[in-house]
Amino acid sequence: MGEEREQEKGKKKSGEFQVITEDQLDPQFKYEIIKEPGGENFLRCMQCGTCTASCPVKAIDPDYNCRRIIRMALIGDKESVLKSKFIWMCSTCYSCYERCPQDVKITELMFALKNIAVKYGYIHPSIKAQLDLLEKFGALLEISEFENRMREKYGLPKINQSPEKVKKVLEKEKIKDVIEGDS
Ligand code: SF4
Ligand code: SF4
Repeated sequence: MGEEREQEKGKKKSGEFQVITEDQLDPQFKYEIIKEPGGENFLRCMQCGTCTASCPVKAIDPDYNCRRIIRMALIGDKESVLKSKFIWMCSTCYSCYERCPQDVKITELMFALKNIAVKYGYIHPSIKAQLDLLEKFGALLEISEFENRMREKYGLPKINQSPEKVKKVLEKEKIKDVIEGDS
């Protein structure tokens, strides 16, 4: 617990923890979050840790800690939160959402944090990789002849991947511009 407190208190730099000073914090950040759809109940968090204890991502990556992300956001450590890879690692499983005693709606809060991060130009590279796949296949994975043979075996129709319609949607909604920071 002592080590975790140190991590909350400091930013990692060259393998060491650096104490955050008051001037590095943005006291307005929490108000920015509650205005974003999904962030409305964020200030209700009482740091009980039920969300982290429920989280399957935490079970795979011990560094992932949704309670800690909320804590960082509450104290106004805006830059660390928005640049964090962790806000992009939420699997949207809703375990925390179902169990939070304060109805913080953490899953939706993670969407809110991602949306704010995008506004400030912070987007995890995995999102760009997903965009490339959507443009190429019209889906997040390629359907090979093997998959289509398996589908045929089970009486399912063949899938002909056609990315054109998806590309039109991406162009219409200017998704690429947002992700590549041109808008
Ligand atoms: S379960 Fe809810 S109240 Fe508890 S730490 Fe997580 S968000 Fe905060
Ligand atoms: S919704 Fe996200 S943060 Fe909540 S338990 Fe699932 S993976 Fe963890």
